[in-house]
Amino acid sequence: MDGNRPETKARTDCLPADREGVARAANILRSGGLVAFPTETVYGLGASALNVQAVRQIFIAKGRPADNPLIVHVRDPRDAAQCGVWNALADRLARVFWPGPLTIIVRRLGVIPPEVSAGLDTVALRAPSHPAAQALLEACGLPIAAPSANRSGKPSPTTARHALDDLEGRVPLVLDGGPCAIGLESTVADVRGAFPLVLRPGAVTPEMLAMAAGECRVADSVMRALREGEDAPSPGMRHTHYAPKAKLTLVRGDPDAVRARIRQEAQGRKGVWVLAPENRLEGYDNFEIRSLGRDAQEAAQRLFYLLRQADRENVERIYCETLPQEGLGLAVMNRLARAAGFEFLDAGESGGREER
Ligand code: AMP
Ligand code: MG
Repeated sequence: MDGNRPETKARTDCLPADREGVARAANILRSGGLVAFPTETVYGLGASALNVQAVRQIFIAKGRPADNPLIVHVRDPRDAAQCGVWNALADRLARVFWPGPLTIIVRRLGVIPPEVSAGLDTVALRAPSHPAAQALLEACGLPIAAPSANRSGKPSPTTARHALDDLEGRVPLVLDGGPCAIGLESTVADVRGAFPLVLRPGAVTPEMLAMAAGECRVADSVMRALREGEDAPSPGMRHTHYAPKAKLTLVRGDPDAVRARIRQEAQGRKGVWVLAPENRLEGYDNFEIRSLGRDAQEAAQRLFYLLRQADRENVERIYCETLPQEGLGLAVMNRLARAAGFEFLDAGESGGREER
């Protein structure tokens, strides 16, 4: 009994993602409930993809706009072919990248309710590689609709603690499988055409997709805000995402100019953090500096953790150095750009002179 809980709030258990935890989670999913569970990308908030009422509960628990579709998690290409029109390109990519951080968009079959795809005639499908996610899919025998397990607009959760911070009292169970290995959401690629079209960059990079498919395109809206009235290729792009409470400013330009500009902006101010790659930390000695790690992989693992930590520490401003937009760096910069509302500060070639 937990006498301190307000009556309106349901109890949320947090169990290790072991046999027992997975069995409990599978029972909840089969009876139409919600479970937060680990994947290799971020924690997901799952419900049976075949149960409209359960799917609606996901949108309610997250406070997610109804026009933002969910990803359906499956065991393998055979399961995927039960949910969507599985074409040769989908099959080729799944054989190379599944199980793993690639979400494949194909035409939706009628067994998947339109609510899952926010009314679109397509469905997003992914086979996760995390052993707990695989065990859960196996144990419940259902396709699992699961967006990230955060309240809408907040950074995605990369630990069970983060999922609990957002969803305590809103879901019956969070499975704890430790920190996520990748730390950013999956690559989303539309494969209905001749080549994959990347709608959201992730750990399966455009370069990797091009190797497997001969060619790959990236939607140009990946690194800019949508224009007034422009159709979103991926509806999630319409919404604010990943935003910490602090105002985040991305500073780009010549490396020395970037450092000089950030120092000038942050000098003498309280509640300001500077984010920079590990090899660029010197020169920020008197500042609250946080490392983005040694490479894009480490930046991906740390980014959402750092944004959430900034909120916990009531940080008001974050100045962040940019990373090269190659490989996984494109995904890291996409999340940072969205968190910053796509605003960049140009430091130019010499520090501190440019107008904002
Ligand atoms: P989340 O799992 O919270 O990162 O959200 C899933 C994201 O996948 C959404 O925000 C969409 O951008 C994308 N997505 C899911 N289904 C579709 C679809 N049918 N067409 C295009 N994008 C999709
Ligand atoms: Mg999300």
